[in-house]
Amino acid sequence: MSESPEVRLSGTPASAGVAVGPAIVIDSQAVVVPDLEDPADAFSEASAAVSRQLEAMCETARAAGRAEAGDVLEAQALMAQDPMLADAVAAALGDGAGLGEALQQARQQIEELFAAIDDPYIAARAQDVVEVTERISRWLAGVDVPDLGQIAEPSVLVARALTAADTAALDPACVLGFVTEAGGPTSHVAIIARSLGVAAVVGAAGIVERTRAGDPVAIDGATGDVVIHPTEVTAEAFAARREAFEAAVAAAEQFRGMSVALGEHRVDVPANAGSRDDVERAVEAAADGIGLLRTEFLFLDRSDAPGEDEQFDFYSFAGASFSQPVVIRTFDIGGDKPAPYLGIAAEENPFLGVRGARLYREFPEVFETQVRAILRAAADTQICLMLPMVSTVTEIGDLRGWISEIAAELTARGIRHEMPPIGIMVEVPSVALVADAVAPHVDFFSIGTNDLTQYAMAADRTNTALDEFQDPLHPAVLALCERTVAAAKRHGISVSVCGLAAADPLGAAVFAAMGVDKLSVSPRTVNLVKSAIAATEASTAEEMVRTALAAATADEARSMIANPTRSP
Ligand code: PEP
Ligand code: MG
Repeated sequence: MSESPEVRLSGTPASAGVAVGPAIVIDSQAVVVPDLEDPADAFSEASAAVSRQLEAMCETARAAGRAEAGDVLEAQALMAQDPMLADAVAAALGDGAGLGEALQQARQQIEELFAAIDDPYIAARAQDVVEVTERISRWLAGVDVPDLGQIAEPSVLVARALTAADTAALDPACVLGFVTEAGGPTSHVAIIARSLGVAAVVGAAGIVERTRAGDPVAIDGATGDVVIHPTEVTAEAFAARREAFEAAVAAAEQFRGMSVALGEHRVDVPANAGSRDDVERAVEAAADGIGLLRTEFLFLDRSDAPGEDEQFDFYSFAGASFSQPVVIRTFDIGGDKPAPYLGIAAEENPFLGVRGARLYREFPEVFETQVRAILRAAADTQICLMLPMVSTVTEIGDLRGWISEIAAELTARGIRHEMPPIGIMVEVPSVALVADAVAPHVDFFSIGTNDLTQYAMAADRTNTALDEFQDPLHPAVLALCERTVAAAKRHGISVSVCGLAAADPLGAAVFAAMGVDKLSVSPRTVNLVKSAIAATEASTAEEMVRTALAAATADEARSMIANPTRSP
């Protein structure tokens, strides 16, 4: 397949599937702007070229229906030609700085200026300054910036890191898969890859350095294997893996639209979704409703928060797509999901900071707008409202009270609405530990094993150096899940799992055995999970849970789930 020697790397599996194709490399490392004879001239040529490039990208984005991305690109095209930038660069050059240094100083100056203005729209422009000056530097250094929305040939994307917005802009028809050096299996980039049905490997150290544009690359998103310049034998082996994966997906098709049970206990398999396309994919997979609608994706990759009517349309569309419940999670911004226009203060430890529901008091109008849209949509469809990242009963009481006030206001204004069932994500250990005290205050629990694992194991979910601590089937995490499920049963409320562990066949088996009512997974895995539940032996379910909880390590727990009657 290739003349160059084969290079094998290993990363973390992030989205199942096998891909072989030419690489597109995005190297986001800082570039070195060369010393030029006439730096002022070089700057005006570069800024004009970058502005034209951005205008062309803006037109393409608008033609493809990505209106918000188009607006951002248009603003950036204007900024590349803004006299404020030109003046700041000229002043720095006048002070004797080289062009690279001048661009750096201009960027800092404008960024600081924007950051000091208390307006979320202007704060978002600070991010645009960073992106525009970076683009100009790359143009001057002769380094291309590929436009991810415009990849023409089916390719494997190789990058140090991709933002959630980058990944959302990808056309799955042209991206066979992606490999990144950064990001963990539950990072939001990986979540989007799974929902797009694109194979992905993260944490592949050294991949960017070793790959050139156009090099053939083979990846297996289930094992984390990455091969650059695969030999003919390797390419054939990857083709065989792809066939096996596709055969398993095809075999699971027999469960489409069927309900499955473990013994007498029925387990629904709804889908996780973050966009209209995801909702359509979930309908296609005949999912049992939506178990987690990640609304924060509606808030990313744009210059201001979505309005009430835009949200109402989206939630009504999702609700009307199913006869089963659609669980809408209020925005979970923070952690690795930034929304620059909100102007959230930078924190030392964003995953332990003002994230999810903790943000609502800082942005009351954003929360109130969203809740109004959800309550209005609930008048006609089976919608449930779910709160992310809550950690105390007090917080839940406050948020419920606030939602009731919003409902009362709608009533006073004569606006049609309905109070939906209100549940919470159980993703902070404190909530799982006092689940019995929490249950009377909510209508349902949904266990978020991605965050629950990160917080129980004290391991940042995006840090690939901590992979050994990230297994959600570690007995410590399973104990928190079991405690939550038992409390839900005692209080007669429904309990789901919507983290990545629900899609792991062993995870699906053990959660079903614990008595979980729903496993919410990416649309593409709905039928695979149904087949995993159907293949689980009901007679040993109790033994499975007991022995897995008694295990000392994640590996031991996995082995007990696979063979519940064997002694550890
Ligand atoms: C989780 O934490 O398990 C979860 C489903 O939420 P998210 O991955 O969006 O944080
Ligand atoms: Mg979470």
